[in-house]
Amino acid sequence: MVSGNWKMHHDHLEAIATVQRLLYRLEPKDYEATEVGIHPPFTAIRSVQVLLDQDGPPLRLGAQNCHWEPKGAFTGEVSAPMLAKLGVSYVIVGHSERRLLFGETDEIVRAKLGAVWREGMTPILCVGETEGERDKGLTREKVTSQVRAALEGTNAGLASRLVIAYEPIWAIGTGRAATPDDAQDGAATVRAAVASVWGSEAAAKVRVQYGGSVSPKNALELLAAPDVDGALVGGASLDADSFAEIVSAARTVAGIR
Ligand code: PEP
Repeated sequence: MVSGNWKMHHDHLEAIATVQRLLYRLEPKDYEATEVGIHPPFTAIRSVQVLLDQDGPPLRLGAQNCHWEPKGAFTGEVSAPMLAKLGVSYVIVGHSERRLLFGETDEIVRAKLGAVWREGMTPILCVGETEGERDKGLTREKVTSQVRAALEGTNAGLASRLVIAYEPIWAIGTGRAATPDDAQDGAATVRAAVASVWGSEAAAKVRVQYGGSVSPKNALELLAAPDVDGALVGGASLDADSFAEIVSAARTVAGIR
C-alpha cells in the first residue's frame, strides 16, 4: 500500500491537476498490485472527491488528521464524521510533525484512532524514533511504546483496519532514508509490538509501511524488506510522476513476492 502525504502543499486547483496526472500515469495493473492513496490538505479533499467520483478509479482518498470528537466547540478542527462523509477512507494519525509541532500525546493519538475507526475509516498510525533516540540505541523501545500506547484498550478484530507507518523522524524530509535493513528492523519491531497486544495472527494482518525520504530511486529496495508492506511518501508524492514511479516499484515487489 502506497500513500502520499501532501502535508500543507497543493491548493485545490493544484490538487486537481496532480490527481489528473496521477490517474493518467497509473495503470489498472498498478491498482491490482497495490492500494494507492493520497492525503491532500482538508481544503482540497472535496475537489479530489468529485474528481474521483467522476472517474471512478480505485484511488483512495485520505486525510492527514482529524479531531477525536464528532462535533463541538473546537474552533479550527475537522471531525472524523465530516471526513467520512467526503469519501475519505484513510486518516493519518500521530504523524511526527503533529506529535512534535502540535503537542499530540499518545493519549490524543489513541482518541483519534478510536474516532477514525468509529466512522468505518482506517487509520494510518505513525510511529518512529528521533535521531537522538536512534543514537542511544532506543529505536525499538520507542517504537514499541508508541504502538502499545496507541493500541491500549483496543481489540484484535481491528487488525485488518489498521495501517502503521514506521517513520524514523531523522529520515522525514531529509533526503536521508533508512537503509532497507533499518526499515525492516523498524517494521518488524512494529509488528512484534502489535503481536504483544493483539497476538501474532492479528499482527500479520496489520499493514506496515515505511516512511522517510522514499523516492523513485530507493523505493524498490525499501519495499522489498519482508515486513514492509508499503510506503508513506511525503515530498515525492507531490509530483504525480515521481509518485507513480514509487507505485510502480511497489507493483514490481508485489510481483516478486
Ligand atoms: C512523511 O511526511 O510522512 C514523510 C515520510 O515525508 P518524506 O517522504 O518527505 O520524508
